Amino acid sequence: MNSPVETSDSNPIQACQLANLPTCQLANLPTCHLAIRLTGTVQGVGFRPFIYNLAREYQLEGTVRNDNGGVLIQVQSPPERLQAFIHAIRDHHPPIAVLDSIRLTPLPVASYDGFRILPSERLDDTHTTLPPDLAVCSECLSEMNDPVDRRFEYPFINCTHCGPRWTIVQSLPYDRPATTMSPFEMCPDCRHEYETPSDRRFHAQPTACPKCGPRLALLIATPDGWQPQGDHQTAIPQAVQALSEHKILLLQGIGGFHLACDARDEATVAELRRRKQRLEKPFAVMFPDLDAIRRWCEADGEEEALLASIRAPIVLLRKRPECPAAESVAPENPLIGAMLPYSPLHHLLLSKFKAPLVMTSANQSDEPIAYKVKEALLRLHGAADAALIHNREIHVFADDSVARKISGSIRLLRRSRGYVPEPVKVAARFRRDVLAFGPHLKNTLCLGKKDGNQAFLSQHIGDLDSESVIEAYQRARDHLRHLFEARVELAACDLHPDYISTTLAEEWCQENGIPLVHAQHHHAHFAACLAENGESGPAIGICLDGTGYGSDGTIWGGEILTGGPAAFQRAGYLLPVPMPGGELAVKQPWRMALAWLHQVFGRCARTLQTDFTRNVEREIGAQTLEMLLNEYIFENIYPLTSSLGRLFDAVAAMLFFGIRSQFEGQAASQLEWLMPASAEPPYPFDIERANGRLILSPAAMFHALVKDQIAGISAAVISRRFHEGLVAALAEMCRLIRDDNGCKTAALSGGCFQNAFLLTRLEEELTARGFRVLTHHLVPTGDGGVSLGQAVIANAQGD
Ligand code: ZN
Ligand code: ZN
Ligand code: FE
Repeated sequence: MNSPVETSDSNPIQACQLANLPTCQLANLPTCHLAIRLTGTVQGVGFRPFIYNLAREYQLEGTVRNDNGGVLIQVQSPPERLQAFIHAIRDHHPPIAVLDSIRLTPLPVASYDGFRILPSERLDDTHTTLPPDLAVCSECLSEMNDPVDRRFEYPFINCTHCGPRWTIVQSLPYDRPATTMSPFEMCPDCRHEYETPSDRRFHAQPTACPKCGPRLALLIATPDGWQPQGDHQTAIPQAVQALSEHKILLLQGIGGFHLACDARDEATVAELRRRKQRLEKPFAVMFPDLDAIRRWCEADGEEEALLASIRAPIVLLRKRPECPAAESVAPENPLIGAMLPYSPLHHLLLSKFKAPLVMTSANQSDEPIAYKVKEALLRLHGAADAALIHNREIHVFADDSVARKISGSIRLLRRSRGYVPEPVKVAARFRRDVLAFGPHLKNTLCLGKKDGNQAFLSQHIGDLDSESVIEAYQRARDHLRHLFEARVELAACDLHPDYISTTLAEEWCQENGIPLVHAQHHHAHFAACLAENGESGPAIGICLDGTGYGSDGTIWGGEILTGGPAAFQRAGYLLPVPMPGGELAVKQPWRMALAWLHQVFGRCARTLQTDFTRNVEREIGAQTLEMLLNEYIFENIYPLTSSLGRLFDAVAAMLFFGIRSQFEGQAASQLEWLMPASAEPPYPFDIERANGRLILSPAAMFHALVKDQIAGISAAVISRRFHEGLVAALAEMCRLIRDDNGCKTAALSGGCFQNAFLLTRLEEELTARGFRVLTHHLVPTGDGGVSLGQAVIANAQGD
């Protein structure tokens, strides 16, 4: 008779503890020989040595092994000791492991010879999870800094508690031959540690030392290509020398290559921008230690803990007024993307350079991060002066993850290294293997595994605008399927007919005879927010972003939906306006300002006495203006959008004409940063009803805004009044919808919620009105989270 004991916890941000293992079930066990099945992130985290040492401590006999269902322990002893053993597994397991369930199955009495670790075994129809790449642990660091240790200053030191995982693994179960460490034959010392069950490096798959492991090399860029300059011994000092001489260094990291340079040196950082062809999007900075971060930025305890955690993401922090960062690190931006060294190589480099380094993905503007040595050297030859490389191959790319604390909680804005491939737990079990192809921008993929409630999101892939990103996308898709042995029976993609992800999904599904669900973009945002909160609705979904293809063929982006993953209704939206010049209006926010002014003021728009109207006519000329606002074209030709992102663009363009949005969300960000701390009265927005839906009209807001602008009220105050008005109107719309349908849960999703003010204030206002508010934490609120929503929708709908 099977007696499963299952518990779960769904907070992968922190190493989780199983909370409520029922003890009564154990006390009544009919036998003292048990199979204990552990599922979750249990491989590659030091579980087997932990179990081995524990079993010996409790004097139990039996075996432990990894298989592709997780960890399987068979153990025999008197029941009391078994119970203590299981409680110890639950309470004291390795900190990076995430235990999803402990399942106990009584077995007939057997005979054992002590306790042994068995070789890994493959089973069919099961799966397990693999830990993400983890920052080097403190024990390894102190060995690395110990002059008498055999791994003194060895940049590839790791143990079962730390080191690369996801980026080196080729297939599961996670064993050395299935990683890019397989070419390195272990020396006798390393092998001894690897085979000693009580050792910290017992079955640490990437274990290595200077005698047997990967090695460094330093190359110098010359007009004829890369020339070898330094070997393993001299590479780091030479790299530090190059950085001190204002050079740009190409650096092989964990999930790909970075370009690094002195973050204090304006000329070099500006040169890096020129070479990367990236004009304004901020660069991340890697600091030698927390003290250095504190000198440049403001960070609270939670932010510091995250920076120093094994996940070691980039955390967006507010710059101190006296911050000595070069202006080009993050132009006109009050925030800095800060991180700490996470690989041993970073530690060695930063401890010798002793100052913060710009550390930005090695690519040219829109390309994916380079991660293969040959390809990186080829692609980045013009961008870097020197290259610090090594021969431990990166099998899978992973950018640095990006987090920001907003409204009292850490939010992941980009989920990649340190988090992938940890699953996100969702409310409903997947009825089959579901693969979601994601949206167009900031793409990720998502795999839902049959009979579980785990969704595996891929690493951040990027905007599917170039051949190279599309190639990276296809590699990521195939790796995800291969790694988790997916037998995909259902697929999902965006509703947008022109997205390359949609085309690829359609082709792939046709080839493989798999049904495909087209999920509306904002419905997917909504479903993603419900899913990561372990809910399945009904709820009110407030989905605010730049662009998404609507069910009616127009461009949506200021949507209030109701329902859940299975179905949604569009309960409210921002009044749609034409986008002058179509897609061009996304890159040129002034077009949206023109559209709104024309919508609100008609022909009078051109004679408004604002700087914006004067400037725009001067810049583009009366004739072009006339053509853009031609009544017939305006009303019949331009696509309509209800996008809130575009409304932000319009307001930003009016407040500081001349801004050209260089990266998505810039206009909205500038409005956010500009705001004064003091509250200002909200601008009025009107809420109208049409065909049973609520329409949010900003006409009155624009009247008030123009009046303020003519009266010389500062852009900062205007921005604050705009934000306050918008928050009040959205909260009021939710209240009206609740009056109709009784729904008291609101889920906030979409890229606009990267705006800290909007998220914080709307959460406050909804809470004050008695709503339970769900927001994103683990999964990006932007399009990086859309694939999760697609997978959940397909699972709820597809048959
Ligand atoms: Zn370690
Ligand atoms: Zn060795
Ligand atoms: Fe979106």
